[in-house]
Amino acid sequence: MKRDPNKLLIDNKLKQTRPRLLVLEQIIGRSAAVSQPELEKTLKQEVDRVTLYRTLTTFEEKGILHKIMGSDGKANYAMCDTKCTIDHHQDQHLHFSCSTCQKIYCLDIQIPNIAIPNHFNVDAMQVMATGTCETCSKKPK
Ligand SMILES: [Zn+2]
Ligand SMILES: [Zn+2]
Ligand SMILES: [Zn+2]
Repeated sequence: MKRDPNKLLIDNKLKQTRPRLLVLEQIIGRSAAVSQPELEKTLKQEVDRVTLYRTLTTFEEKGILHKIMGSDGKANYAMCDTKCTIDHHQDQHLHFSCSTCQKIYCLDIQIPNIAIPNHFNVDAMQVMATGTCETCSKKPK
């Protein structure tokens, strides 16, 4: 289901600023996550780097977007599940990284609860599968 950027901002008590709407429009409705450098490139005429960074941080805090670190160290962003709330993300799903197109996909597969020894404090957990995505595997080589 495609979500409405205006409504998302209102629901999260955020002002509907142009950079926020532009960033959301780039991410809503995509099948793959969008990397920060890609967003920078696409929006560079309208949103400067600092604003983009702040916007992404705000969205992450509000539970609108979740960040996925790629194996190349770049941050990627994808829409959150509607269950996500402020400071409480529920995006415990499997991510898939395509080694051909470098895109990262959110898969609708829940990561089971993994028991971590008590003396380790987990802030975030990321489970990443790598391989070839559906689009790339269909392309003739
Ligand atoms: Zn989330
Ligand atoms: Zn691919
Ligand atoms: Zn995800």
